Amino acid sequence: MHGVTGSFDVVGAKAPLAFFGNLDRARLAHGYLFTGPAGVGKKTFARRFAQSLICETAKPTVLGYCGVCPGCTLFVAGTHPDFVTSEGVVKIGKEGGSALHDEELSARDLVRELSLHGYRSAYRVVMLGDVSFATHEAANALLKFFEEPPKGVVVILTTNGPGALLATIRSRMLEIAFGPLPSTDVERVLVASGVDPEKAHFAAEVALGSITRARAILDGDDAGVRDASFAWFARAVRGEHADASFLRLDDRSLTGAEKRALVGELIELVRVAARDWVALAVAGADIPLLATDQRERIAALPSRDARALVAMLAAIGDTERLANTNVSAGLVVDHLRMQLAPPAAR
Ligand SMILES: [Zn+2]
Repeated sequence: MHGVTGSFDVVGAKAPLAFFGNLDRARLAHGYLFTGPAGVGKKTFARRFAQSLICETAKPTVLGYCGVCPGCTLFVAGTHPDFVTSEGVVKIGKEGGSALHDEELSARDLVRELSLHGYRSAYRVVMLGDVSFATHEAANALLKFFEEPPKGVVVILTTNGPGALLATIRSRMLEIAFGPLPSTDVERVLVASGVDPEKAHFAAEVALGSITRARAILDGDDAGVRDASFAWFARAVRGEHADASFLRLDDRSLTGAEKRALVGELIELVRVAARDWVALAVAGADIPLLATDQRERIAALPSRDARALVAMLAAIGDTERLANTNVSAGLVVDHLRMQLAPPAAR
């Protein structure tokens, strides 16, 4: 009865596949929040999940679609009346502009989209990517939906900064965590999209499990944040003033969600740097590192005793949990810096 019937082509997503693969349609929730770093396949999974619900071929499983029924054909063509999506950075709450396909949708639009039943399918799926709620009115629209959800309507939000969501909304959704992809999967996706295999291999090795980051590395866009994050780490563990201006936390043109995403990236890179630092301290200079390109910088760090290093790794995990609450991005960075500082300097 469980697993996938028909197609469901995603990379990674082991835990989400296991979760939905063991779910019966009768136990579907009305709201799912897909969380995890950028570029690990949250939106792709959400689309496949939506198509699975909208596919008209009878199946015993939640996941999987036939690809040939009228429902699948309309879905693939982007014209199915029961699939509503907005995948850019959505600001819900600004009035004016009416179509959901626009980058901005009004609270009124959201209320309308959420109140309709499936038109030709038993399900209606509203998928919102990287959502941020600009007004109380918009948040209220979603809260009202959760109070009395119409039968068969499923809302999927994807975000890499769940802390930016209102707690009242987050608590009504079932959170599904997407982890980093194995580098072999990242490499496979890059090669399949036409990237030169040798370049794909290098980009996948240093992308920390994110296809988005691997593409940014190939485009030369990511070097800035990546290098600045390792440099920030090196200063912080020495107890020196670590300039975090590359995170642009004072830049008013960035949304809270975007700032949180940058801080999330810093935390991930710091975790890699810290693990490499510990590996070098414990196992010596020959150990393979996660950040192969940062060996020189990490080898030059001062020594710290093993117990303090292990405590530091745990503290980085705590900071990551803090970053997933509604604490401000600036405070999260300060907290992280304090955890990294030499014990005597705190
Ligand atoms: Zn189908």
